[in-house]
Amino acid sequence: MQSSRASGTGVQCGKIGCAGDGCVMCEDVHLPENEHSFLVSELEQTYVRFPRNPYVSGLTILVLKRHASELYELSSDELAGFWQETSVVAEPLNEIYAPAKMNYMVFGNHCPHIHSHLFPVTYDHDPLQPINMQEQEVFLEEMSIGRSSRTSGAGYRTRNDG
Ligand SMILES: [Zn+2]
Repeated sequence: MQSSRASGTGVQCGKIGCAGDGCVMCEDVHLPENEHSFLVSELEQTYVRFPRNPYVSGLTILVLKRHASELYELSSDELAGFWQETSVVAEPLNEIYAPAKMNYMVFGNHCPHIHSHLFPVTYDHDPLQPINMQEQEVFLEEMSIGRSSRTSGAGYRTRNDG
């Protein structure tokens, strides 16, 4: 496993969420856990992380190791690597969660550091309903992080589970 944290700290990209404060993803994306997520794996171009509040079972995030805000800032190899690694991670998630469809989302409104959300959509999802990741809280329990990567739905609890 390679440790190529090229991002460093204090990156100021000037985009929303980063203006003047540096990039929070550059600061802590490589850590085993941070305020928002747990590190699952380190790949060549990305860190794979499980959010603490994934909203849906299986939601997984791949964060580019170096700071970039827009896909067009990447070299051809970086761009291909980013999507290749997104695809590589999607396959076992598909096997574990058996979604109706795996969605791939790239936002950056809260932190404009390139990252993709792998969002397994179930048959219960209304495909016409806008995605609101704040709609409910579904927390990934810290102690079940190892189990949840191997078994469907393990490790997740909703606020209503108590
Ligand atoms: Zn960054």
